[in-house]
Amino acid sequence: MSNENKSIHEFDFNIICEYFSGLERQGPGTPEQTIKALSFIDNLTTESRIADIGCGTGGQTMVLAQHAPGVITGIDLFPRFIELFKANAAKLNLQERIKGIVCSMENLPFQMGELDLIWSEGAIYNIGFERGLNEWRKFLKTGGYVAVSEASWFTEERPAEIDAFWQDAYPEIDTIPNKVAQMQKAGYIPVATFILPEHCWTEHFYALQVTAREAFLKKHAGNKAVEAFIACERHEALLYYKYKAYYGYVFYIGKKI
Ligand code: SAH
Repeated sequence: MSNENKSIHEFDFNIICEYFSGLERQGPGTPEQTIKALSFIDNLTTESRIADIGCGTGGQTMVLAQHAPGVITGIDLFPRFIELFKANAAKLNLQERIKGIVCSMENLPFQMGELDLIWSEGAIYNIGFERGLNEWRKFLKTGGYVAVSEASWFTEERPAEIDAFWQDAYPEIDTIPNKVAQMQKAGYIPVATFILPEHCWTEHFYALQVTAREAFLKKHAGNKAVEAFIACERHEALLYYKYKAYYGYVFYIGKKI
């Protein structure tokens, strides 16, 4: 790759980061769904060690800390997100129980068997569902839990347009029973799965982005890369509205055997 390409790539990365920094959540989800997923987990005490992997600016981490005991370590690759994450924890006076670390989910800083719970909303796709479940397992105690949300197909078949979009964006998207089988094979008891309601995308994730997009375009008026990025985000949202009967986000909760 030439240097020119590399700098374009880095610029895009900065655009993505700046855009999502302004949003409360960087993926679909709500406090209610975080609390619902938490209701399947029964092993937590004030001594518990929890990791929130791909935590972003910490929307779901703050909810976790307010509804579960223990100490939470948020992990994200983007330093700006971790900065905002720490500020959010401090605002809620949760800084004693919530730590943030800039680190890759491919190289986690935990000891074997250290964790009681691994949380990851809308982020495991970055390493891949199967690889993440397999590689992260060693950090959990026996009887520890994993709770992740992941894009999944609702049906065996779907229209070509949306199939092609996802094969390009994330070919590991699969049906719920296939994902559950992967979880079982990775060494977890599949404890629960549930589909995130549509309003997590429509009212929360995408609707909030409508104003964010306008403001972002205005701020970067004339910037072609920003325009292309926003067009891409709009396209993704439009596809969701058109094909939401066929896919969505699903929470998968498993217990390490
Ligand atoms: N959990 C948050 C953010 C989801 S977006 C929420 O639900 O709102 C996905 C997050 O994964 C982003 O914050 C992104 O910075 C992070 N990420 C991407 N690749 C990563 C990697 N290799 N290691 C750690 N975090 C990563």
